[in-house]
Amino acid sequence: MDGDLLFRVLFLVLFLLGVMIRGYYTRRVQATRKRRSIKERFENTVQAEGKATAVLLIGQGIYLIIIVPLYLLFSPSLSWFHLPIPDWLRWLGVGLGVFSLPFLAWIHHVLDKHWSISLTLQEDHALVTSGPYRRIRHPMYTVHIVYFFTWVLVSANLLLLINYLLTIILIFARIPKEEQMLLDEFGDEYRAYMKRTGRLLPRFRRKTNRKD
Ligand code: SAH
Repeated sequence: MDGDLLFRVLFLVLFLLGVMIRGYYTRRVQATRKRRSIKERFENTVQAEGKATAVLLIGQGIYLIIIVPLYLLFSPSLSWFHLPIPDWLRWLGVGLGVFSLPFLAWIHHVLDKHWSISLTLQEDHALVTSGPYRRIRHPMYTVHIVYFFTWVLVSANLLLLINYLLTIILIFARIPKEEQMLLDEFGDEYRAYMKRTGRLLPRFRRKTNRKD
């Protein structure tokens, strides 16, 4: 098997494992919610995140649907899009990608029915502060930042680097809005939670005996 084909197969495995985990938990939470039309969902997303973000989110979804098969099927003819990433780094990407996936499953499992693709509060929304949420407020975004980067490393393809940059923009645009939404909903409980946690990485404890 030539090197490029091997990495394309590995990319496909990594991609499908991610899709399977996301698909499994999406179906689980959908069973607990009433069905909404695409129009309704779009309107909710616009309301929570603004029109530009909503359009970017949908645009990214469509972009991904187009570029993944394009990369998998035609990457040898798309040499212009090839990024000069050495093989050892691509292998590191495979390892890191596989390593990150159990964390994605764990986070989904803990966040459970409070998870949603766009910013929403469920009818009986509770603040989750256990497991990965004990010290990090956005562990799922941390895993996204790592996992989607491994797509770039394994594929060594510019099209997937563009997807990654879109992901980063969306995550960093979303975090302040998400935190504001949770502050509005949970008030002091979330404020105290913010004090003892970090956004994407655990917060280093200050050497004081403060209990917050
Ligand atoms: N930002 C989180 C969750 C991503 S899913 C993470 O990266 O792990 C997005 C949804 O999760 C939001 O609509 C919000 O309602 C919900 N959410 C985020 N943090 C939460 C928490 N600590 N407890 C309960 N729900 C939370």
